[in-house]
Amino acid sequence: MRLEIRNVTKTFKEKTAVNQFSMELQSGECVGLIGPNGAGKSTLIKVISDILDPTEGEVLLDGKKISLMKREIGYLPQYPNFYSWMTAKETLSFMGQLSGVKKEELTEAIPKILNKVGLSGEENSRVGTFSGGMKQRLGIAQALLHKPALIVMDEPVSALDPVGRREVLNIIEEIKKETTILLSTHILGDAEEICERFVIIKNGEKIEDTTLTELLNQNSQNKLNIEMASKD
Ligand code: ADP
Ligand code: MG
Repeated sequence: MRLEIRNVTKTFKEKTAVNQFSMELQSGECVGLIGPNGAGKSTLIKVISDILDPTEGEVLLDGKKISLMKREIGYLPQYPNFYSWMTAKETLSFMGQLSGVKKEELTEAIPKILNKVGLSGEENSRVGTFSGGMKQRLGIAQALLHKPALIVMDEPVSALDPVGRREVLNIIEEIKKETTILLSTHILGDAEEICERFVIIKNGEKIEDTTLTELLNQNSQNKLNIEMASKD
């Protein structure tokens, strides 16, 4: 698997949300897409998932244009939406069928996926009773239903309390073993435990593509510079 984002620009009327953004992702990577609120993370992720068409540029998966219809990429939206009256199992069955997974396949896949996201005991609970972390985990399960090689997750832990955050990070840590991951967050700390590579986006532009070690070195370097400056 190889994902290429080539010079993607996305403009809404006058607002350029993503500007000439390029990056590549290879099988087995877990990459953090880091940027402040309004940086363009959600917009970029929607373009990658083919939910939005780019104004300019293209997104290629193994050299071919990605297509939402082919369900090649698992997408976890920033605010996953479920019917509160459906159970976890019904939700996955419904969503799975909507996205073209065969019923027999779903019967086999759903218990396994619920187990993978730590919701085995909750298969018959209504989603309306779920905590924020449980909803995110159900969203991850849904994104994994058609066994994508790549999953993109939009701020999966940003809105969670510490317990929910821990649970979701643990699940992502497991998923990482078999799926390539692009995870967006506005908090570096959310990604630094699980990702090895970090792409920093600001005002729609890529400003860094780096490793954790380099990033930490840069931060200490910046701190050093600030300290040095304050001594002058
Ligand atoms: P992030 O996810 O990093 O917080 P977004 O991708 O949601 O950033 O937004 C990037 C910029 O694009 C923001 O200024 C936002 O207001 C703007 N934007 C996003 N979606 C739309 C839209 N549908 N119409 C107009 N502006 C939008
Ligand atoms: Mg966002």
